[in-house]
Amino acid sequence: MQQHKKQVLFVCDRREITRWQAKSRRPLGACFRKNFWRKRYFLLLTRMPRLISRALAIAFVASLGACTTVPRTAIKDTSRTFTTVVVDAGHGGKDNGAYRRYGPPEKIVALDVAQRLERNLRESQLKTVMTRSSDVFIPLNDRVAIENSQKKAIFVSIHFNDSRRRGIHGFETYYHSGTSAELANRIQSKLMTIPHSMNRGVHTANFRVLRLAYYPAVLVECGFLSNRSEGNQARDAEYRELLSERIAEAIVEQRYGPGVYHASPQVAAAQPQPASPGSEPTPPAVHH
Ligand SMILES: [Zn+2]
Repeated sequence: MQQHKKQVLFVCDRREITRWQAKSRRPLGACFRKNFWRKRYFLLLTRMPRLISRALAIAFVASLGACTTVPRTAIKDTSRTFTTVVVDAGHGGKDNGAYRRYGPPEKIVALDVAQRLERNLRESQLKTVMTRSSDVFIPLNDRVAIENSQKKAIFVSIHFNDSRRRGIHGFETYYHSGTSAELANRIQSKLMTIPHSMNRGVHTANFRVLRLAYYPAVLVECGFLSNRSEGNQARDAEYRELLSERIAEAIVEQRYGPGVYHASPQVAAAQPQPASPGSEPTPPAVHH
């Protein structure tokens, strides 16, 4: 054993330690503990670079942990109390999103629906924040940061879909945390009131903008640009207005209950309790 200790003391090299450890079948820590005081200065000198790199590695892992665990533990259920809607137009700038030769790319139509949605929500007295208002590239983390820096918010990301199979069409809504499920279902069912709409369902997904959100967050796929019919519709401004109205209506109902879309805040405040998603009646007044 003495021989092995010497190897550690004077040849403080990762391979030597490993060899000693393998021969003696003892944990690496025991080696350092036993000899630390006898050759402290020498060990400090030889181990310094490794100590620094280890400290950096620990700091890096800790920062990763903070990114991935904090939002999960700190999710705030503002699904019925939110005052701000963060409207996120998917893609932008160098990121076209779905792109077909015969129509505008996803980034353009998504921005248009998002801007219409924002206007409809503001008319319903909800505060809104856009992650982008022009054709610029915004990294996903920045989009999440915009949402997470708000007070009492929800996050709604607008996208259009794409498929190699041109026959595929329909609406999809995605969420990550359970606190977002009701909002996702409500948006999906409002979209299904659009004539000839196809329901491709509400799904959970691990998208970063959903996973890292502090607040309820959903991502809406407003149809397939790769489908002839839905691609044509997406190029029609009136249809994009209809999409934005249905989504706005769902958001307002989620906050204030059914029948108050485009009503004054006093009317909204007078509503006793938001109805559960399964029992909502058809709203009496449809915008336009
Ligand atoms: Zn997209």
